[in-house]
Amino acid sequence: MDEKYLNLTEADEESMIQREFDALLQDYAATRHTQKTEIIKRAFDFAKSAHHGVRRRSGEPYIMHPLAVARIVVKEIGLGSTSICSALLHDVVEDTDYTVEDIEERFGPKIAQIVSGLTKISGGIFGEKASEQAENFRRLILTMPEDVRVILIKMADRLHNMRTLGSMPPAKQLKISGETQYIYAPLAARLGFFLIKTELENLSFKYEQPSVYAKIQEQVDAVTPRLEESYLRFIGPIKQILDSYNYKYTITYRVKSPYSIFRKMQNKHIPFDEVYDLLAVRIILKPRPDEDERANCWVTYSALTSLYKEHPDRTRNWLSTPKPNGYEALHVTLMNHEGNWVEVQIRTERMNEIAEHGLAAHWKYKTGTSELSNLDSWFKSLKDMLDTADYANAVEFMDTFRLNLYASEIYVFTPKGDIKKMPVKSTALDFAFALHSDIGLHCIGAKVDHKLVPLTYELKSGDQVEILTSKTQRPQPDWIDIVTMPRAKAHLRAVFRKEYRIVQEKGKKAVEDELAKLNMPLNNVTTTRIIEHYKFNTITEFYNAVGRGLVDLSDITTVMFQTKNPSKWTKMWKLQFGKKNESVETDPKKKKKVVLTDTNVGQGYTLAECCHPIPGDPVLGYLDEYGTVLVHKRECPVALKLKSNYGNRIVTAEWATHNVKSFLAMIEINGIDERGVLQKIVTVVSEDYAINIKSVHLEAKDGIFTAQFGVYVHSADDLNVLCANLRKVPFVNSVVRIS
Ligand code: MN
Repeated sequence: MDEKYLNLTEADEESMIQREFDALLQDYAATRHTQKTEIIKRAFDFAKSAHHGVRRRSGEPYIMHPLAVARIVVKEIGLGSTSICSALLHDVVEDTDYTVEDIEERFGPKIAQIVSGLTKISGGIFGEKASEQAENFRRLILTMPEDVRVILIKMADRLHNMRTLGSMPPAKQLKISGETQYIYAPLAARLGFFLIKTELENLSFKYEQPSVYAKIQEQVDAVTPRLEESYLRFIGPIKQILDSYNYKYTITYRVKSPYSIFRKMQNKHIPFDEVYDLLAVRIILKPRPDEDERANCWVTYSALTSLYKEHPDRTRNWLSTPKPNGYEALHVTLMNHEGNWVEVQIRTERMNEIAEHGLAAHWKYKTGTSELSNLDSWFKSLKDMLDTADYANAVEFMDTFRLNLYASEIYVFTPKGDIKKMPVKSTALDFAFALHSDIGLHCIGAKVDHKLVPLTYELKSGDQVEILTSKTQRPQPDWIDIVTMPRAKAHLRAVFRKEYRIVQEKGKKAVEDELAKLNMPLNNVTTTRIIEHYKFNTITEFYNAVGRGLVDLSDITTVMFQTKNPSKWTKMWKLQFGKKNESVETDPKKKKKVVLTDTNVGQGYTLAECCHPIPGDPVLGYLDEYGTVLVHKRECPVALKLKSNYGNRIVTAEWATHNVKSFLAMIEINGIDERGVLQKIVTVVSEDYAINIKSVHLEAKDGIFTAQFGVYVHSADDLNVLCANLRKVPFVNSVVRIS
């Protein structure tokens, strides 16, 4: 606590506060702003009572701080009543129980909006995450030209905090200094507030590196007398010439700030003694009304270069093309009598105003228009400058203002005032995911600046966004199109994939169960058949459809066992079995009726090759011209033909007995080509039923096998039993007699 505040009485404090307020009003009166003191008085009274009883760390009443900020705002930045009121009220919402609504009620929406903006920044920049928010903050202020007064008042706030930083504990000093160095000084430079920028840099330097600062300051103090002496020698001849031109002017000098000297020593790796331009000379011209101010500058330049040797590489012409921030001047570096280089800056009074007060200078020369329209035109002039600037300047300009003009990011606030950086076009749903994926997944809505908005709401810089969630909410399919941030999209996809997998597993299980009823496995063969039949692209799509209950599996049996390509089987039959049958036995009988017994088989009759009748089959006989009876099955097409054409040669035939002799029968089995299935079939045929296998042909394709067996059986009944048992073999689908 500063000692000067220790022994103040309440009355002393009151008069100190009043003096500061009067000074503020005087500063305001000195501007060309339309005087609106009534609202400023009200703002002061309100802030004073709101902060009543609160002290700053230094011990002074808190209201002294807003008052000081307001004075900077009017005097050093040049803003008007709206900004002064906002400055007076800038800590009310942050530090007292009053709300933005309270401010709006008393001072209207504009001031409330600025105070709200200041409060928002405050939460982010001084909050727990201050350092990681620094870059965000820097960009935030550059992306909010419409809130430029928020930025300017914040800058004033920071300047006053830096000026009074001595009463803060060292750790806090470092933190605030770092922030100032990183954010506020560059900002002040970019806005053209060079005096503020220099002061901020110096104060930061002083608190960040106190001993280095002190040493340089000491060295500066040591050489200052010599510098002043040299300065006087240097400007003498200049004055003579300018006087002879009848120019009105002032010549001043400034000694480089300790921070600038430090930077130069660092950048050029030189000791203090070699920093040649400790001194900069300024010639500020009052141009004659009837003459071009730039011409005056050039005339002065000629005078200087006629007196002193000019450094060929150090002339800077910011007359023709001002700096992006509006700086206009002509710089020339000359050699003085001691052989040292001295930088001389030639400016008019107007140019000097701009150099020192940047933005403020632009509206200082304007009256009658509102503060805001002046700000607007200032921004417009910056943009116009971009159009006319040369390339190098355009690049510099872009560096400064590209985030304004071509912003790719926006900055939004959480209800607690944390800043979140979001890509342009981010939606409320994106923001929910940016906070936490769980918040995103359970998001049901959002409020922007306390108003309900849909999830599709496109966020704007400065929006304060509150996300509403519900435990029962589930991500919806259309969310994929609502979110724009890749990470949110990826997250939703992952969730949908997981859900899809669960549904799919359910579907797969259902298909598996259905197939299991048919003794069929789930494999390439069966799945291929399924997706071909149901017209799905992949089996997983099919599973998913089943899982969602979109597919009826009741006809899966048909699907699995329909013969896809019957001609193929026919072909196989011809290839393999179209040959002569070796097992024909004959016993020709010239009777109308042939009795086929196991003893007479092969004696007088022949079993037709076309239909391989076996005992038990309904048959008929054809008595050929050689006296041999050919026995056909009754349904055999050849037999039908013979019957119609050679009816007189047809003999009835019947099986007398069929238990001894074996007859050849052809069966076709198809099923799933699983390991071991064929072995199982062979086992059933040859071992369980002791039936001889004459021939086997097997073809497997797409996981489905088709086997033709030539087997010796005693009767049709035997064959039926065999077929029935073969059908029980796992993975066997159908067993049919094919001849
Ligand atoms: Mn403050």
